[in-house]
Amino acid sequence: DITASAMVYSEYGQPSQVLKWHSYRLPAVTPTTVQVKFLASPINPADVNMIQGAYPIKPTYQKLSLDDDKLLAVGGNEGVAQVIAVGDQVQDLKVGDQVVMANTGYGTWRTHATGPTSDFQLLPSSSDNNNKNVSMIQKATITVNPCTAYRMLKDFVQLSRGDYVIQNGGNSAVGQAVIEIAKAWGLKTINVVRNRPDIDNLRKELTDLGATHVVTDEDLGKHETRALIKSWVGKGKPLLGLNCVGGKSATDMARYLGENGQFVTYGAMSRKPLSLPASLLIFKNISFHGFWVSKWAEVHSKEERYQMLEDVVDLMSQGKLGEPKWTQVKWDEESMKTSVDQGISAFAGGKQVVIF
Ligand code: NDP
Repeated sequence: DITASAMVYSEYGQPSQVLKWHSYRLPAVTPTTVQVKFLASPINPADVNMIQGAYPIKPTYQKLSLDDDKLLAVGGNEGVAQVIAVGDQVQDLKVGDQVVMANTGYGTWRTHATGPTSDFQLLPSSSDNNNKNVSMIQKATITVNPCTAYRMLKDFVQLSRGDYVIQNGGNSAVGQAVIEIAKAWGLKTINVVRNRPDIDNLRKELTDLGATHVVTDEDLGKHETRALIKSWVGKGKPLLGLNCVGGKSATDMARYLGENGQFVTYGAMSRKPLSLPASLLIFKNISFHGFWVSKWAEVHSKEERYQMLEDVVDLMSQGKLGEPKWTQVKWDEESMKTSVDQGISAFAGGKQVVIF
């Protein structure tokens, strides 16, 4: 018998108030289910929004064990787990395989889970140990940020080596993955970040990562910067812009796109609406899109997702896509409550990750 524990909630609210520690007897495998042991799970901004009831995906309320009388939702959406038992009829997973979650909303802040194989997705090369250069932290955070960067670089504009991409939130976790993947694919990046006293450190950090240019949001709107960027890109104006921030930063960035450019919004960190000059639509025919990785996973097949994960794991094992900055969260009730409350603002210290 395995005693599992999970951070659960049964109503929306401030995470530290609604999250509770739950200990329960893990259901045994049936012929068609598998048992997994979680290795590591991050705390992402979306996890917090979901607990607050402010996310478009609603939690799944479920009975975690036969002894439970109440329906509970498990917090967390991303993580890596290892298969520890499989039912007789299970063919697509075996003991020792490492898996990520097949869908958003599964609940990853728990030590164990038992469920059908459709809940999980095999992590490429986990059986033959080919991903051994890939750290646990990379595996635990692979499905959201690196996959978002990968899709946005691939799906909107057919880019060729040497082409420029412009993005704001250049130092966000997604932004850093964009920098690294772009570099690996021979693309150049102009990265907009918020100004700060030690901007030169950040500039160096991002350049070391592979950023071609780093520009501050304050400079972006200036006349000199227009001339400067023009001197970098020449006739090859960026045709892809990635918007993490919204507000003025997004408007200023859109002006740098070339004719028929694509502007993709995936975040709204400034909480300011997007305001767009009509001239960009009329005279430059720029199109504006949104991207949401959860929706992408929902509408694409497991095979397509596997292929992307394979590419991303390859980049990681070749050292081209590194670990995000991270800090460890202890797996106990108080640490979890405090850390989840900070889940949106705790960026400075890096991604918070629970190691079980
Ligand atoms: P991180 O916590 O790693 O980075 C946050 C970024 O936002 C930093 O660059 C930070 O810059 C910047 N930022 C914070 N506050 C503000 C502000 N008020 N104005 C402007 N910039 C600000 O975040 P992630 O990379 O994990 O996620 C970034 C965004 O992307 C989030 O909104 C997240 O929800 C979203 N996201 C969306 C996905 C999708 O599928 N659509 C998938 C993954 C993430 P600074 O250093 O200056 O504070």
